[in-house]
Amino acid sequence: MRIVTFCLISLMGSSLWASRNGDLRERTESATSIVMGEVAASRSFYGSDGEIYTEVSVRVGASLKERGRKSAGVRTFQVKGGVVGDTHVVFTDVPSFEADESVMVFFEGDQPSEKYTIRGGYVPELGESAAQVLSKVRQHLDDQQEPMAESERRRAEMFLNQTAAATPPAPDAACFVLLGPKWADALATYKLGTTIPATWRTALDASATSWTRAGTGFQFRPDAASANELLIGTVSGASTLASTRIEFDSLNRIRRFTMTFNSSVSWSTTGEAGKFDVENVTAHELGHALGLNHPSGNTCSEQTMWATAGAGETKKRTLEGGDRAGALSMYPASGTPPTTPPTTPPPAPTAPAPVFTTAYLYPAPRAATPFAVWVIGSGFDPATVQIVFTGPGCATPCVVTPRDRSTTILGAETTLSTRGMYTIALRNGPTGAFSPARVFSVQ
Ligand SMILES: [Zn+2]
Repeated sequence: MRIVTFCLISLMGSSLWASRNGDLRERTESATSIVMGEVAASRSFYGSDGEIYTEVSVRVGASLKERGRKSAGVRTFQVKGGVVGDTHVVFTDVPSFEADESVMVFFEGDQPSEKYTIRGGYVPELGESAAQVLSKVRQHLDDQQEPMAESERRRAEMFLNQTAAATPPAPDAACFVLLGPKWADALATYKLGTTIPATWRTALDASATSWTRAGTGFQFRPDAASANELLIGTVSGASTLASTRIEFDSLNRIRRFTMTFNSSVSWSTTGEAGKFDVENVTAHELGHALGLNHPSGNTCSEQTMWATAGAGETKKRTLEGGDRAGALSMYPASGTPPTTPPTTPPPAPTAPAPVFTTAYLYPAPRAATPFAVWVIGSGFDPATVQIVFTGPGCATPCVVTPRDRSTTILGAETTLSTRGMYTIALRNGPTGAFSPARVFSVQ
């Protein structure tokens, strides 16, 4: 299954700003079970409701919290979203999983409410070592008087010892993260469903206008005939304010989106204390709809695309630097040269394209300064795989043969000479087909 990361905008118990670490406490407390393990398999299929679902199996390495049931051996569950044929679906409030990744999963009942990836001993979403995260979870469980069993603590530490130590992943220095898919024509229309009160129209249009006026080439445009709809309805979890379903094709072109506001949340269009502001949340969800994910690292907590929002909060109504930079990286303003795509693949590729999930660049790339590159995905041929950069310092693509190579992880060190926007893509051998490219900036 193709992972396009997950996201959720959480309903916080207080109107105070909560950091991701604050989230960890809330997640730990509200979880009915927490497991650490390795994703053994995932399989996507069409459900009877016509939606794509994915069945995920996690080999449990340790069970950090159990209320009512034991997670021994393999834990299997279903999540909404996945890939069937040419149709990819992600929900912004549902974690997605990829075979062989190490994870910490928080469940509320049968459904995963949060997933952290453990990579080289680190949890990139939190910018902390997995051992630190485990220790915090233990502390929160102690505080909640549901302490972790001693045997499980030992199993958890053993599990973490098996994940190789690696360079810490980079924080998102630019404070934006791309989902991957985007709108081919830099335009998305939207319409308001019948469940949306007429009094919301002004707030919803204002959120769309914030993105349209962000100085990028992208536009949201209201259109009563649009296939993209805003609704009030049921979402996956009680702690989710809103969910956006994004459907796209194998070329990462978004086909449509549907945004659902949680009907059990108290909404306000005026930033009232104790209620959740429609414009604040819509600006965030529309950022997902145009292709942005959540930045991580506490230095990004003021961004509209930050993962959580508080009651009464209105600061996400306006966009911040990372939000704009992210949109601009996908949709250059007219007059801005478009980001150079990777070189055209040769007409008859001799090797299938690797699947490229995530790249970590550390430290944040600066011109003429070496940085480490860690790429996670699948289908890498360790004998031939190449990392290919295009951008201002790579008039002919810069080809890097990774120093560390497996079928799922690549590690390399490189230097790019010139500041600007670059793409990174992968291929198996010089004549292999390219993976889709990702954009990043060199400062
Ligand atoms: Zn979100």
